[in-house]
Amino acid sequence: MPIYEYYCYDCKKRVSVLYRTMAEADAGAAACPECAGERLQRLMSRLRVLRSEESSVESMADDPSLMTGLQQEDPRALAHFMRKMSDEAGEPLDEEMNEVIDRLDAGESPESIEESMPQPPDGDERGMPGLGGL
Ligand SMILES: [Zn+2]
Repeated sequence: MPIYEYYCYDCKKRVSVLYRTMAEADAGAAACPECAGERLQRLMSRLRVLRSEESSVESMADDPSLMTGLQQEDPRALAHFMRKMSDEAGEPLDEEMNEVIDRLDAGESPESIEESMPQPPDGDERGMPGLGGL
């Protein structure tokens, strides 16, 4: 069962949404498990690595320009967000993550980056959405 991480704009929390099927995940019918809000920003799955204090996300929610950028799905805002997450978590980004952020910074969409990244051979990410036509 796929699990995606989202940022909820309503309760300002990072939440994990569990889907029963890939089709359901693909449809993007996500609701916040905390407050049932539907204003969710999907986070890159790799962001799971940076799991740490929720307070770091809350402090970023105080930065209106950043949150606006994220809401508008501005890749540069997302790059900024991820760098800041890493800083506040005190965990350095690995090489792959740095590449992702550089590409976001260059204006590439998270979806296109995610699709082009190699998946771990023994991971649970098989059957990623969008790869069915290959
Ligand atoms: Zn919520």
